[in-house]
Amino acid sequence: MNSNKTKCLIIGSGPAGYTAALYTSRANLSPVLYEGHQPGGQLTITTEVENFPGYPDGTTGTELMEDIRRQAIKFGADIRPGIITAVDFSKRPFTVTVDDGSTIEAETIIISTGATAKFLGLDDEQKYMGLGVSACATCDGFFYRGKRVAVVGGGDTACEEALYLSNIAADVFLIVRKDHLRASKVMQRRVLDKPNIRVLFNTNTVGLYGEEFLEGAHLVENKGTENEQRMDLELDGFFLAIGHKPNTEIFKGAIELDESGYIKTDGISTATNIEGVFAAGDVADPHYRQAITAAGSGCKAALDAERFLAAHQ
Ligand code: NDP
Repeated sequence: MNSNKTKCLIIGSGPAGYTAALYTSRANLSPVLYEGHQPGGQLTITTEVENFPGYPDGTTGTELMEDIRRQAIKFGADIRPGIITAVDFSKRPFTVTVDDGSTIEAETIIISTGATAKFLGLDDEQKYMGLGVSACATCDGFFYRGKRVAVVGGGDTACEEALYLSNIAADVFLIVRKDHLRASKVMQRRVLDKPNIRVLFNTNTVGLYGEEFLEGAHLVENKGTENEQRMDLELDGFFLAIGHKPNTEIFKGAIELDESGYIKTDGISTATNIEGVFAAGDVADPHYRQAITAAGSGCKAALDAERFLAAHQ
């Protein structure tokens, strides 16, 4: 029978959550972790991972997550399937509700529910996911050395991804739906000055094509105007950079979020505005969004929870 009381409840199972489980279990906090909708998190939808230290020959996102998960279980972490559907942070111990209807009481909570990349909503995006479509240039850009790639979006992320890819790929197309970039001026200048980046303004993607792997995108220029024009752009890679959405729906009203919905931490530690509730990984980080930074903040959250418990015996 599962215990419904814990010193430390971890919500979410990417690199941040599993690392927090590893550290809190080694600290004898007997953590309980709920894995959520996508056990292993965003990394399980990427292919190879070559930039996580300790894997000189690379690994896959799924294997990496399974490794950290097993490491946490080895030290006693209680990892459970299930989705947290409601939280009550109004008093300690905190109470959370699981989708099977049960409730758990927790003395501390680490939120590591991650963020979800936004997609255009085309069926083809799912069809070619990992076969040419990606939402992370830092993760997957390396596989496009000397190839033709496109980045969709006009914000700082899109510009950053286009610049990153321009040092790897032969040609980079930045597909922007408006007649201007939203990114900061300095990023715009860098993109416009880069000889192998071509910005396609007033352009929307309406479909993708390819036999087995992605081979190109169906684009529409000046959509809805008398100058509307369709064209096909041959591509090896198609990168989405139209923003991320933090997975904080259930925490609205319970904890302080920034204007984009990310959990606010105090900037030095992983502490949130609720004493005893900590946030780690992409759910509190719109900037770095890397597996290694998420894992690092999971470690920090575990140490913060441990110290909090020691001070509130
Ligand atoms: P943004 O929300 O700033 O930009 C999203 C971009 O995607 C916009 O150009 C938007 O177009 C476009 N877009 C959104 N939906 C669609 C769609 N359906 N079809 C086509 N295009 C679409 O997100 P970012 O991730 O770029 O940035 C998030 C925050 O993080 C920002 O505050 C940014 O400044 C910051 N950031 C800072 C960095 C830095 O300082 N180095 C690096 C990365 C991010 P439109 O303009 O038409 O709405």
